[in-house]
Amino acid sequence: MARWPRQILFGDIDAMFASAAVLTDPSLAGQPVAVGGPPPRGIVAAASYEVRRFGVRSAMPTIQAMRLCPQLILVPPDRPLYQRLHRQIQDVTHRFFPETEWTSIDEFYTETTRLQIRHPDPRELGEALKADIRRTTGLTCTVALASGKTVAKIAADFHKPDGLAVIAPGSEAAFLAPLPIRSLPGMGPKSTEAIERLGIHTVGDLLEPRFESALVRQLGTRLAALQALALGHDSDPVVADREAKSVSHETTFDEDTNDPALLEPIIHGFLESLTHDLRLEGLAAGSFTLKLKDSHFHITTRQRKFSSPANYDPDLWPDIRAALHELLQPRSRYRLVGLGLSDLVPASEPLFDRRQRDAVAILDRLIERHGTGVVRLGGLPHKGDGHKKRGRRAKD
Ligand SMILES: [Mg+2]
Repeated sequence: MARWPRQILFGDIDAMFASAAVLTDPSLAGQPVAVGGPPPRGIVAAASYEVRRFGVRSAMPTIQAMRLCPQLILVPPDRPLYQRLHRQIQDVTHRFFPETEWTSIDEFYTETTRLQIRHPDPRELGEALKADIRRTTGLTCTVALASGKTVAKIAADFHKPDGLAVIAPGSEAAFLAPLPIRSLPGMGPKSTEAIERLGIHTVGDLLEPRFESALVRQLGTRLAALQALALGHDSDPVVADREAKSVSHETTFDEDTNDPALLEPIIHGFLESLTHDLRLEGLAAGSFTLKLKDSHFHITTRQRKFSSPANYDPDLWPDIRAALHELLQPRSRYRLVGLGLSDLVPASEPLFDRRQRDAVAILDRLIERHGTGVVRLGGLPHKGDGHKKRGRRAKD
């Protein structure tokens, strides 16, 4: 079997939160399960494949999900369970791979180029990994191997659930050509609509010479980057967590932006969610990394230490907000933003005084029930926290 010049493996647990609910209560298997907060303010954090058939999606208000699927079984989130499963999956990936980049609690990339000596057949490697994750956790994982991260991710999305996709080098463009344009990262509903109005519908169309001038008018300098993606050219490296422990979150926008009024609440929302996870784990963060990717796919980052490790977002936000304003370039527009917390250490006792600690424990229970966007403590100091709360977020 010919060796690939570069090989990236992407793994994504299938509907992890909903599948975890079935592990806890096997009678839920095959039932229309969604994980989320109750109406009127709750949102769906994860939808099983059974309820997706009714049009239920993550980040949808629970009340709307119940209208679409009246027999919906709503299960509250169980973050300690997800963390436990995450560590079990990490035990498996550590056995297989020297380094793994986790982009969320249930999604990871790893470079397997050198592993080809031991695993010359990518399909055999994917099968072995899937079987081990299933045996260890009871969860199914969709795995894709390709020459770059973007194609691997797209291939996995098209082979869910419990899929295995192998896109051999040289076949990337052919794999991508028939897919709808919105399959490409960063192609949100608005950008997609604008391009579809030109009569361009598939990824392959982006490479058609007859559409070239219309595309240049529509996309300007973004076109070259999109065409490179359409060809499957993608040398984005796997960035393994250097720290043994870190947590991070990132998102790609529908429309590129450099508006702090939009960026701040999104990053603050990541911080709220990440610090909530740290508190549940009894950990505190010693430093952070803020990452921006501009419309030309150029990545800039700021990495800073906090004055002391902490896990309560109002203590951490002023440093992160300052770093954001340093990073933002007036003439750049940004397609992606990410926040990571690292140098994780056991939270020293007391990180808060006792009264505060009890209040934060109540806050965490409310977050479990309603999500990070809707609760806020009144009695605690919110240094430099002067903006409106962001609406909601959820993960698939
Ligand atoms: Mg998943």
